[in-house]
Amino acid sequence: MAETPLDLSLDAPALTARLVDFPSVSGDEKALADAIEEALRALPHLTVDRYGNNVVARTHLGRAERVVLAGHIDTVPIADNVPSRLDDNGVLWGCGTSDMKSGVAVQLRIAATVPAPNRDLTFVFYDNEEVAAHLNGLGHVADAHPDWLAGDFAVLLEPSDAQVEGGCQGTLRVLLRTAGERAHSARGWMGSNAIHSAAPILARLASYEPRRPMIDGLEYHEGLNAVAIEGGVAGNVIPDVCTVTVNFRYAPDRTEQEALAHVREVFADCDIAEFVVDDHSGAALPGLSHPAAAAFMAAVGGTARPKFGWTDVSRFSALGVPAVNYGPGDALVAHKRDEHVAVERITHCEERLRAWLTA
Ligand SMILES: [Zn+2]
Repeated sequence: MAETPLDLSLDAPALTARLVDFPSVSGDEKALADAIEEALRALPHLTVDRYGNNVVARTHLGRAERVVLAGHIDTVPIADNVPSRLDDNGVLWGCGTSDMKSGVAVQLRIAATVPAPNRDLTFVFYDNEEVAAHLNGLGHVADAHPDWLAGDFAVLLEPSDAQVEGGCQGTLRVLLRTAGERAHSARGWMGSNAIHSAAPILARLASYEPRRPMIDGLEYHEGLNAVAIEGGVAGNVIPDVCTVTVNFRYAPDRTEQEALAHVREVFADCDIAEFVVDDHSGAALPGLSHPAAAAFMAAVGGTARPKFGWTDVSRFSALGVPAVNYGPGDALVAHKRDEHVAVERITHCEERLRAWLTA
């Protein structure tokens, strides 16, 4: 009998170590996806589907609610920090310990040891999260098999220091171009200076008062900022073009269309020759008012905090599934050479999720 490469009877910290010792840098996840698929197929209470190097396992118990537990299986490139190392203080070191093989280990442990949960469960393991958005495995599954991701509530086990992080802010980047007319700077009055025309844009940004809306009990904090400015032809030429790159980070009570309309309105009286949407990723509502989420909050304890950066929770949100981040890793050490996770955090997260799903 072939030996199963992933032994799901290991406890979550030991399983985390095993996963870290199973390298899966983005683009190179096949072997780990194979091992996860094989281990899950051995569990009779789950059906298992696979799309590329993405594995989805589900219970079908006819429960009133379905909850999705999701995590990416890739890591950033290894930095002399594999294999993993457990020190005397109960800290596990290595690439992916925090982001997010400890979270994946918790998913696998719940999959293996909670055969009759109080809510139907969907486990999603996906590839290519740490690279360009168009490669993201969760996005591919969402496009090809959105029904696999259906649910009432989703938890991404991304590093959050065992705190609940609700929703995420959207991010919109626009290029605001002003136009002028070139002339020799010795006779500047013959032209029109595009850099000077950008002054009202900068004034608008400097005086902008960002909102701090409360949504589902979480306080978000928006921001509208210039992140780049480009203009100028030569030391003796009046410039005919200036581009201000503006980034709007917005709270999840605005849709993508509303966020864009807001930015257009802010700069409505500026003399803008060209307004280009360079990049746009929508926000995600925390969804903490949903009954499944409320029960989750009660089981895991603590107070939820808002997520200011963009995360994959918004991919679930786009499918109509409210989602939060809750995982044992520490985001502050993610991607670092000295990445690590406290064993106690892994065990704590597993216990809290188990309590929620078996109460
Ligand atoms: Zn991650």
